Amino acid sequence: SPFERADIHTGLESTLVMLNGKLEGLDVVTDFDRTLPPVPIYAGELNQVWTNLIDNAVQAMNGSGTLTIRTSRDNDHVRVDVCDTGPGIPRDLRRRVFEPFFTTKPVGKGTGLGLDISYRIIVTRHGGDLTVESTPGDTRFTARLPLTERPP
Ligand code: ADP
Ligand code: MG
Repeated sequence: SPFERADIHTGLESTLVMLNGKLEGLDVVTDFDRTLPPVPIYAGELNQVWTNLIDNAVQAMNGSGTLTIRTSRDNDHVRVDVCDTGPGIPRDLRRRVFEPFFTTKPVGKGTGLGLDISYRIIVTRHGGDLTVESTPGDTRFTARLPLTERPP
């Protein structure tokens, strides 16, 4: 998809629709700041990021819990938080989750590439950053996307 200014919520909402079948039994909370300006993005690539972050959150919660997706303004960035109430990521693994092929899922269930690809899309392609904070019952992946246009 082209690099162009778009409403960040469009991709988040279509990803939720696409993953709807996997959300059964979970509480889904969207807390969107509808006043956010359009963000310069590769919308198709970002949809891969949202898909992986939400998929990971859903798998972590294993059938019950709350998925929260929040958007907000952070100075010259737009911020997207994907939060879950799953068991969390132990401190010693938290840096490694972004490494290619790092997975704790059974063979065939996870490739360990989702966060590696997501990191590259956010950081390399958009000049943003992708971070994680986690305690048991409260895990948050945060993507920050610059509002200042950085053309390819
Ligand atoms: P995959 O989903 O194929 O395992 P990812 O790169 O998407 O690969 O994630 C790597 C690993 O990071 C996962 O296997 C899991 O151990 C951990 N992880 C990612 N997101 C979460 C989350 N929301 N809660 C707990 N662990 C997570
Ligand atoms: Mg994944």
